Amino acid sequence: AKQQGRNTYQWFASDLNVEANERVELRNDLQRALEQEQLEVFYQPMVESRTGKIRGSEALIRWHHPVRGLMSPIQFIPLAEDTGQIIELGRWVLQQACRDAVRLLGLGYRDHRISVNVSPVQLRQAGFVDLVTETLRQTGLAPELLDLEIVESAILYDTEQVVDRLRKLRELGVGIAIDDFGTGFSSLSYLKIMPVTKIKIDRAFIKDVISNRSDAAITQGILSMAHHLSLDVVAEGVETNAHAAFLRKNNCQLLQGYLFARPMPFQNMLEFLTTQAVA
Ligand code: C2E
Ligand code: CA
Ligand code: CA
Ligand code: CA
Repeated sequence: AKQQGRNTYQWFASDLNVEANERVELRNDLQRALEQEQLEVFYQPMVESRTGKIRGSEALIRWHHPVRGLMSPIQFIPLAEDTGQIIELGRWVLQQACRDAVRLLGLGYRDHRISVNVSPVQLRQAGFVDLVTETLRQTGLAPELLDLEIVESAILYDTEQVVDRLRKLRELGVGIAIDDFGTGFSSLSYLKIMPVTKIKIDRAFIKDVISNRSDAAITQGILSMAHHLSLDVVAEGVETNAHAAFLRKNNCQLLQGYLFARPMPFQNMLEFLTTQAVA
């Protein structure tokens, strides 16, 4: 048993080593990625459920890794948050997304909103409001066309400062969307202190909304609450016509998911938009 225990320990230790080396390597690679323009912002449209019109899109980062190929943000965002690289990365995404939004405006998409994901680590920076203000000024994007997507856990630490920053952003005219709504804890009490304009229902509830009675009830509950609070709602992970029909019937204003489009490069997004009538 002792021998076995030691083997187990060795396995575990070498696993940890592999993981640590891998993280060091990825961290160095990510530094290079920021310098060598290996990052790209993809966009996924948000569709108005009643009309089918595209009302906005979410900016989602991608990394064209020279060896690993196209990398999903779930493979490197948590690491970037640990190393602090998320600050530079987040600044870059915000700027790129605002620039692209201005290009859309110039092409006549006058009320296309852009959603940008903001990490809790970014929100804990004292300079975050200045960064947003400066980026809007530099790019010339109207604050009313920008939504910042934040997760509920963003106000777990430094609550007062973070909430204060969110208020200042709201005063600028920027929208605040709660991402992955319903998956964090105490969603409802957070809603009272966060200056929120939009809720994004997590795809965990949408996935089985047709077959699972509690998912359906939770989704309907979130929608009803959001309407009473005059908040906009987006359903994430809309993959089937049945999902869309259920959400439309329950007055979910905006839909996002593979049913309409996967996240895509800006150029493809432009082509996708031209297949739609300009709103
Ligand atoms: P998220 O903010 O919840 O973004 C939605 C994710 O769901 C995206 O994954 C999107 O591609 C995926 N998705 C959209 N529609 C569907 C669908 O119908 N079915 C399924 N199964 N998935 C769908 P993605 O692009 O891999 O991003 C993963 C997460 O990485 C994001 O989750 C977000 O938390 C984070 N992330 C992405 N870009 C950024 C960024 O620029 N900054 C920060 N801080 N985080 C980012
Ligand atoms: Ca998001
Ligand atoms: Ca989400
Ligand atoms: Ca998510």
